[in-house]
Amino acid sequence: MAKFISKTDLLAWLEGLMKERTLAAPIKEEGVTRFAPVKKVADIVMDPGATDFSPKDWFFPPSETLFTVSKADGKTVITPRTMEKEAILFGLHPCDGLGVALMDLPFLAEPADASYAEKREKTTLVGLACRQSRPECFCTSLGSNPFDATYLDVLLIEAGGGYIVQSKTEKGQKLLASAKLTESNVETPAPPAVNTVPVEGLVAIAPHVFNDAFWTRLADRCIHCNMCAFVCPACYCFDIRDYVGKGGVVERVRSWESCQAAGFTKIAGGYTPRPTKAARLRQRFYHKFLYMPKQLGSIGCTGCGRCVRVCPVNIDIREIITTMQKIGAKVAVGAP
Ligand code: SF4
Ligand code: SF4
Repeated sequence: MAKFISKTDLLAWLEGLMKERTLAAPIKEEGVTRFAPVKKVADIVMDPGATDFSPKDWFFPPSETLFTVSKADGKTVITPRTMEKEAILFGLHPCDGLGVALMDLPFLAEPADASYAEKREKTTLVGLACRQSRPECFCTSLGSNPFDATYLDVLLIEAGGGYIVQSKTEKGQKLLASAKLTESNVETPAPPAVNTVPVEGLVAIAPHVFNDAFWTRLADRCIHCNMCAFVCPACYCFDIRDYVGKGGVVERVRSWESCQAAGFTKIAGGYTPRPTKAARLRQRFYHKFLYMPKQLGSIGCTGCGRCVRVCPVNIDIREIITTMQKIGAKVAVGAP
């Protein structure tokens, strides 16, 4: 027997939770699906496929004030941004759960990022299993799958006119206490098939592909719009700026950036260690396929396929992985 919730009871449960918590879920604004706080459950896009923007927006928004610095009675006062109430991030797919786990690696490593850590602690993840995959999905190559509950507090699998409910975490159990669950013998449907990409061995061959002309050819196409990094659930480059406002109050703001941007690695004196487009484009992939695995223990990609969909010049991470494997294999056997 499985725990089950009807579609009507699911919406009623979410509505009840919204009385005390913030509910963030996929909504559609100007043709784009993104995770944002919802005012009413009817606004939730219940089956968005992969949202255009990932749920990283909730924990690591495009731009956020980290804290303000002011003076009071001759003393310096630092006021951090804090969450007013607990939150539920609803409707993320299993690969996006993996994306949150990948974000945890840099942001929760000691010393943990205070803003991120607070949001992570006070947010419960309620995911939706994928009913269908897209051609550009390759989550199973990165260790997840369409029904993977590993990185979620609650997973809902659509079946029998409602949802099978799975939860293994304390946070998930606590949240479900107010849900109208029933016992059901509804069968779990088969997960959709997902395309695969040859990721195995990529970390080992990556150093052998570093100086290949392939990167220059690829960079000639790239227009450096940075959209691939902005939609990616695992890209976490950022910029920090201080703004002085009324009464001399200083606001420290963190905003998304991309390691592919020309100014990202520029240092004092104007020197940049990655002066070419090719070096900058290569950096994004080497961070994912070599530096993150070495430094943080995991490849920095979930196989969500968002970067494939968004790239205006059809630069495709699946082709890059396949090409790196081919070049690496040739180098390994000493072929020209
Ligand atoms: S989306 Fe495509 S064109 Fe834009 S920066 Fe990424 S790879 Fe380059
Ligand atoms: S690199 Fe592309 S496929 Fe991988 S997680 Fe980022 S957006 Fe998704």
